[in-house]
Amino acid sequence: METLKTKCLIIGSGPAGYTAGIYASRANLKPMLFEGNQPGGQLTTTTEVENFPGYPEGINGFDLMADLRKQAERFNVDIRSGLVTKVDFSKRPFRVETDGDVVVEAEAVIISTGASAKYLGLADENKYKGLGVSACATCDGFFYRKKRVAVVGGGDTACEEALYLSNLATEVFLIVRKDYLRASKVMQERVLANPKIKVLFNTNTVGLFGEDALEGAHLVERKGTPEEQHFDIAIDGFFLAIGHQPNTRVFEGQINLDSVGYVETYNGTTETSVPGVFAAGDVADTRYRQAITAAGSGCKAALDVERFLLENPL
Ligand code: NDP
Repeated sequence: METLKTKCLIIGSGPAGYTAGIYASRANLKPMLFEGNQPGGQLTTTTEVENFPGYPEGINGFDLMADLRKQAERFNVDIRSGLVTKVDFSKRPFRVETDGDVVVEAEAVIISTGASAKYLGLADENKYKGLGVSACATCDGFFYRKKRVAVVGGGDTACEEALYLSNLATEVFLIVRKDYLRASKVMQERVLANPKIKVLFNTNTVGLFGEDALEGAHLVERKGTPEEQHFDIAIDGFFLAIGHQPNTRVFEGQINLDSVGYVETYNGTTETSVPGVFAAGDVADTRYRQAITAAGSGCKAALDVERFLLENPL
């Protein structure tokens, strides 16, 4: 196993990780950044990002992340591919292992591992994964040109995915468990005005069916009420957009996580329960979860590391 040493190790490569890298580099901390298994993070799987300041016409999520990476490279952030598999935060320098048989000894760590798409938990989701079930419309939507698809969820992600798919598919069902959309007003209006999108309110998915690939979904409307109704829809694609789960399994038992798994931070800073370990972006954000807030907290984490290392030299 190769052992590397760094003052500042950044785990994760979304807006939080790259921004932390840019700031830590400019503070001469020579940061090392591990990209994880989805370089660029969640934004690489979205379409247009219209609310990141500085892009008046909007920007494709993939291009935004490519720009952030380029900016980090310009300041010589040591960007490496690899997934962190084990950490020991019991003493400094912290010890971090990666799947590339690399051990990193780090004086400080910034966790910016983000969050991953959630699934409903139906056995059929596994059965048809890659055969019609997906959690990323921009990755897989192309396969459903001129077909019928469904998106599950009522938030901004679900609306965005439904709108994206409406440009490809012949019909899009949006399956919403409540009687309203949680998405922002502008997204709600776009969805409700789109003739290709049919919103099924008060509806839950109870199963999927199909011979070799997905052919449809079993749905139930107004479950548990006297008006409960079971019906099927014929679809070729089933897209999950029901939120995300923080990527923190590897940190369990090492730092304080909340009941859902988000990293707990303290004092309005990016400090975690372990001095010298900081967290930024969606992995520690149950409330805002925006690209710009993730980038902002990445900046804060790098500034927190800089101060911590000054006060706690090894
Ligand atoms: P949200 O948590 O906002 O929404 C999740 C949706 O999925 C809700 O409608 C929820 O229903 C539904 N849901 C959750 N679990 C289930 C389940 N088991 N069965 C059926 N439905 C379920 O997640 P998003 O990913 O949409 O958004 C996360 C954050 O990112 C938000 O702050 C959002 O504003 C932001 N965002 C912003 C974008 C933009 O501005 N361009 C684009 C995408 C996201 P219920 O309402 O009943 O809880």
